[in-house]
Amino acid sequence: MSTFKVGSHFVTRIEEMLTPGFLPEFLFPDFDKRVFLQAKLLAAPRFWHAESGKVMSSMHSWMIRKDRHVILIDTGCGNDKSRALPIFQRFHQLHLPYLDNLLAAGVKPEDVTMVICTHLHVDHVGWNTRLVNGQWVPTFPNARYIFSRREFEHWQSPTGGGITLPENMAVIADSVLPIVAAGLVDFVDDGAQILPGLYFEDAPGHTAGHGMIKLESDRDAAVFPGDSLHQPMQVYMTDWNSRFCESADQARTTRRAVLDYCSDRKALLLPAHFGAPHGGYITRHATGYGFKPADDLVVSG
Ligand SMILES: [Zn+2]
Repeated sequence: MSTFKVGSHFVTRIEEMLTPGFLPEFLFPDFDKRVFLQAKLLAAPRFWHAESGKVMSSMHSWMIRKDRHVILIDTGCGNDKSRALPIFQRFHQLHLPYLDNLLAAGVKPEDVTMVICTHLHVDHVGWNTRLVNGQWVPTFPNARYIFSRREFEHWQSPTGGGITLPENMAVIADSVLPIVAAGLVDFVDDGAQILPGLYFEDAPGHTAGHGMIKLESDRDAAVFPGDSLHQPMQVYMTDWNSRFCESADQARTTRRAVLDYCSDRKALLLPAHFGAPHGGYITRHATGYGFKPADDLVVSG
């Protein structure tokens, strides 16, 4: 369990799974294996599973604790969910000890005060709900759930996300709509201050209403970029979109804006899927960017 200190806040990774994910040539249509010559660390076992040829893929929530607040950013894939289509099979009928991992961090589901979803894809909303007596019910009954208004409308629109990624509509049905029906959602717009020092900003491209979360605490800052970046290799190849990015040019613009913010502000980058230690710093030089894993910042492991 990695915990980072950001100013006066503690940010802990709550693991759902850490496994080889997609083949990079599948995930990134522009993939070229010469990227491994760009930086030795990209081929290190924590980012690259050489035996299978797949990138290492983490599924986790970032938990921010401050005073009485217990905030989860993104909620992984969830248990018991039917995701039978081949591209989603890694997420199909899971029985993972995510809630045990949360408990090991000292938090029961009812202790969670807020859940923020960067976007509404299958691997970011799963633990919003769990199956009880055949019904999908909110996993965190005392939390307010923060969704981007634009993102929610995108998945409600007949010309929106259901066209580009129809297999995600079942996800909306079992992991998003039950939260709306329970009256637990607060919809937010670009620039919303969610709590002191915690901001939601539009970061479109991966999905139309995709957002990122910024945490500013004392002199420190962290950014949770969601799927603006799936893998460290995209720090070096900022043009590479995942095959799940809806708007190619917007996704590239957002990715570079995230990297510029991180390098200018010296902000800790805490993405949704990077291998261990799951976060790092961005350096900028004349021809591009570099990634430095934040091993030194982990205050408990
Ligand atoms: Zn994702």
